Amino acid sequence: MTSRILLTGGAGYIGSHTHVALVAAGHDVVILDNFANAQRTVPERLEQITGKRVTLVEGDVRDADTLAKLFARHEIDAVVHFAALKAVGESMARPLAYFDVNIGGLSTLLRAMDNAGCRRLVFSSSATVYGIPDEAPTPETAPFRAMNPYGQTKITGEQMLGWLQAANPEWAVGILRYFNPAGAHGSALIGEDPRDIPNNLMPFVAKVALGELPRVSVFGNDYDTADGTGVRDYIHVEDLARGHVLSLEKLLSTRQGHIVNLGTGRGYSVLEVIAAYQRATNRDIPYQITDRRPGDVPIYVARADRAVEVLGFRTEKGLDEMCASSWKWVSGLAGKA
Ligand code: NAD
Ligand code: UDP
Repeated sequence: MTSRILLTGGAGYIGSHTHVALVAAGHDVVILDNFANAQRTVPERLEQITGKRVTLVEGDVRDADTLAKLFARHEIDAVVHFAALKAVGESMARPLAYFDVNIGGLSTLLRAMDNAGCRRLVFSSSATVYGIPDEAPTPETAPFRAMNPYGQTKITGEQMLGWLQAANPEWAVGILRYFNPAGAHGSALIGEDPRDIPNNLMPFVAKVALGELPRVSVFGNDYDTADGTGVRDYIHVEDLARGHVLSLEKLLSTRQGHIVNLGTGRGYSVLEVIAAYQRATNRDIPYQITDRRPGDVPIYVARADRAVEVLGFRTEKGLDEMCASSWKWVSGLAGKA
């Protein structure tokens, strides 16, 4: 059945890939984005990929009037809420901006949805809610631990949504805790496009492969992991996008809320990622071992079985495909610069 889905932050990295997956699954999509962290070319690129017109509302998720008009104009069945600020380091320096967009934005959105009688929501959460977890792979039952204001906003968001569902069973919320999204769409028309020097490993490695940065700094090789470097559960953004379709369809067909990790269940070290990128590009990727990054978590790997049980979600693409699609995307961008 076709549903009409609002994607807040739908022009961003994960939102744009989810748009493609939703259209492929036969749904109508409306994007709300203020382009604070997205390129203006994304909507037309989405049209190129899907062959369908994009319905875009340019605006801010904190703006109640914009939301009221949007819900009055479009009959929305469910919302996926991506719009947020997401840089951990920046959140330490500017916590109020994070409270404002990530918590204030969520609250304004929930009020508008409630007024419109639209009470199904998929929420972008993160493995960061686990802080430094006691177990890896980490199950959804692990306790919340805020390590920084960004993580706090995701914990607070999840808790708000829990109270809302407790207050009114009409609400059904899918909370998706992403591990480390990586890679780009196979068309190389959309992908992650950080404006500054990237903080995350894969986009940083990409810039070194391109020759735009001299070497990768490997933040510590004295962790309790096989090669001493940090381990993460990288998930292809196209797999992640599919997880949203499954979560939405579950909410729409059963009205049952869920909290699931979205990861592969398998971790790779920093050195393994560099080696995989080298294989995908046939380029030399110099690196040096430096000090640990303050606040870094040694290992984040998802317990991935609940996503299989609840959503029937299994990842299909591995690290090599993440590196190859990332490279196709960034080398295409560099060619146009
Ligand atoms: P992104 O920055 O690429 O996308 C966010 C989008 O929201 C952007 O298009 C931006 O322009 C838009 N936006 C920001 N503030 C807005 C506002 N006030 N009103 C309207 N639009 C606004 O980020 P992403 O990587 O696609 O992340 C999407 C969601 O997933 C975020 O909630 C993020 O916290 C969460 N998440 C991301 C990761 C990751 O590693 N990328 C991991 C875990 C969770
Ligand atoms: N990392 C690194 N050099 C970099 C960026 C990241 O060694 O320039 C390491 C980091 O210490 C962690 C892993 O790569 O072990 C993934 O880091 P990222 O910032 O991408 O994800 P997060 O730490 O938020 O999970």
